[in-house]
Amino acid sequence: MSVSYWQDSGFGKRITKDVVIIGGGFAGLSTAYWMQKEDPSMNIAVVEKYEIGDGASGRNAGFITCGSVEHFNRLVEKHGREEASVIWKFSEDNLKYLKEDIIEDRPNDFLFEHNGSFSLASTETEFKELQESAELMSTFNINVEKVDEKDIKERLGAEKFVGGIKYIGDATVHPHKLLHGIKEKIEKTSDSVEFFENHEVSKIETENGNKVVYTKKNRIEAPVVVYATNGYSPLVNSYFEDKIFPTRGQILVTEKVPRFMEAACYANFVLDYFRQLPTGEMLIGGFRQLQKDVETGYSDQTTATIQSALEDFLKVHIPAVREAKITHRWSGIMGFSVDGQPMVGALPTDPQLYFVGGFTAHGVGLAFNSGKTLVDAMFGRAVPSWISAKRLG
Ligand SMILES: Cc1cc2nc3c(=O)[nH]c(=O)nc-3n(C[C@H](O)[C@H](O)[C@H](O)COP(=O)(O)OP(=O)(O)OC[C@H]3O[C@@H](n4cnc5c(N)ncnc54)[C@H](O)[C@@H]3O)c2cc1C
Repeated sequence: MSVSYWQDSGFGKRITKDVVIIGGGFAGLSTAYWMQKEDPSMNIAVVEKYEIGDGASGRNAGFITCGSVEHFNRLVEKHGREEASVIWKFSEDNLKYLKEDIIEDRPNDFLFEHNGSFSLASTETEFKELQESAELMSTFNINVEKVDEKDIKERLGAEKFVGGIKYIGDATVHPHKLLHGIKEKIEKTSDSVEFFENHEVSKIETENGNKVVYTKKNRIEAPVVVYATNGYSPLVNSYFEDKIFPTRGQILVTEKVPRFMEAACYANFVLDYFRQLPTGEMLIGGFRQLQKDVETGYSDQTTATIQSALEDFLKVHIPAVREAKITHRWSGIMGFSVDGQPMVGALPTDPQLYFVGGFTAHGVGLAFNSGKTLVDAMFGRAVPSWISAKRLG
């Protein structure tokens, strides 16, 4: 939202911090978590336009996926064996850190299930690619299982798929609870992180070598600012205009039915996804490919075209929920990076401005470790080139 001269003049406290993080999603909170762990004396402000989790972090499907947005063979084609292995390990570590540091011995509090996930093919072409991908993954010692049409019917209650593979290491979670789990952990272990909710940052200026972050309520001054603003980043700094693209995703959820699915599923080259929640509801999302021109930008709306495609998919493939009532429909804005990988580190245009984001629909699977990597960058440690903001110039 733009800010008028009248709103901008005369109000607001002047607050001084060591770091200001803009954005209260997985990226912002993960960064705050690792930063206070690195140096508990650091005074950190987390500034969020709405409330914690009102962005994509509270609106996603809760898949904690290893790897990337595409089948593993494509990751290897693009990055080569060595880097693909590093990228896979990065996401495995993301899950490991979430389990060790946040979920701990309370999986039920987060509806966390470490059951793996399936990638299902409805065409022979995709099944062939998935099988090749599985062969390749086994040469990396990645735990993967091939499944056929009969397995899919028996273990997932899903029809009209020719085959697929199961990634044994993947997990699912209640993303909003997990995000609040990170916040609670921060609050438990540190009193140097202050949360400013309902504070929209309207501008950032440089004054006497420091950054001054303006909201209508306060001016927060710090030597360093972190943008954790996801798809909204081009609105806060034009540097992101050709690097981060706001992309909408839509979901629907049905009423509860008795549990029948072994684990969460992707379909159609990772574009569509569905899972039965531990509490019985069926969630399905995706089909952005049907309205690519509409599913960009900042409007938080659902569309009839995509919502009916989601419903039709359930009718065709999942008999157990054909009659189930739909209870929730929503959308959220993702930040797609220009090459599909996250961006972490100082902006080449200004060493006092940092960024963590661009998770391209996989932030639950990547953001916690990306926040840790951003703290590495801030404390002068190396950031791998595949994830470094520097690679995009
Ligand atoms: C429908 C959907 C399904 C998804 N499914 C999955 C999934 O199953 N698994 C997975 O890994 N990922 C999934 N994702 C992607 C995942 O949700 C994101 O990658 C992740 O949440 C990004 O976290 P973030 O902190 O970067 O962004 P966000 O959570 O969007 O946080 C950015 C925050 O910045 C705030 N902000 C923006 N501008 C300003 C400003 N000027 N001042 C102050 N604050 C500001 C916003 O309000 C927002 O809260 C999905 C996303 C969507 C939308």
